[in-house]
Amino acid sequence: MNRKDNPRCDLHIHSCLSACADLLMTPGNIIQQAVNLGLEYIAITDHNSAGNTQVAQQLAQANGIKLIPAMELETREEVHLLCYFSSLDALLEFEAIVHENLPSLKNDERLFGYQLLTDIKDEYIAKEDRLLAMATKLSLSEAIENVTNLQGVVIPAHVDRPANSILGQLGFIPSDMGIQVIEISRNTDPMGFLRVHPHLDQYRYIQGSDSHYLTDIGRCGNTEGFILDEDLLKLISVIF
Ligand SMILES: [Zn+2]
Ligand SMILES: [Zn+2]
Repeated sequence: MNRKDNPRCDLHIHSCLSACADLLMTPGNIIQQAVNLGLEYIAITDHNSAGNTQVAQQLAQANGIKLIPAMELETREEVHLLCYFSSLDALLEFEAIVHENLPSLKNDERLFGYQLLTDIKDEYIAKEDRLLAMATKLSLSEAIENVTNLQGVVIPAHVDRPANSILGQLGFIPSDMGIQVIEISRNTDPMGFLRVHPHLDQYRYIQGSDSHYLTDIGRCGNTEGFILDEDLLKLISVIF
């Protein structure tokens, strides 16, 4: 197979809209880093928000990077789900649902950090006042139903982590929700993890960097980006 069949990607990157991310994680800097690394696909997956995605998509297009509209949603059960969509419109429709279900709390910048929106010149233009990184009122099944209705794909995030993962919070992956792909953290060896959890054999996995710093982008277990093989591409083809 040639490289076209095996695109390198990083599908889990936080921008400066996520309070936990470094302030240098502007869309422009993220795209530039992706260009430097030769990544083909990236996704900005901010917590419960897509506020920087439109600008990021424009910058990505101008730089030959394919940006998949995405979000890292936190469900009522405190499970983190990576939600991917085939269009910005679908993501923004989903974001409207998420924000209706986001408890209304103000971000305490001293405690959590800044939540910054940027413009096409990659300059900070506004702050998001609502606290974003918290459990929404959407249950796991409601979240998946909404994403599926918008022809999106849900991939449970960092399933190997004890906190905010589907296994950590629920102890299992419900079999009736159409989940086919899981994400394993970049620092965990997937083969070792799947040996310890043989019941997860039925799932394909991706590894994202979960970048909060520019230097983490592309560190997805594989060197410089996770490689999407043909089977995975088929499973998540709806978002490409
Ligand atoms: Zn997470
Ligand atoms: Zn994350």
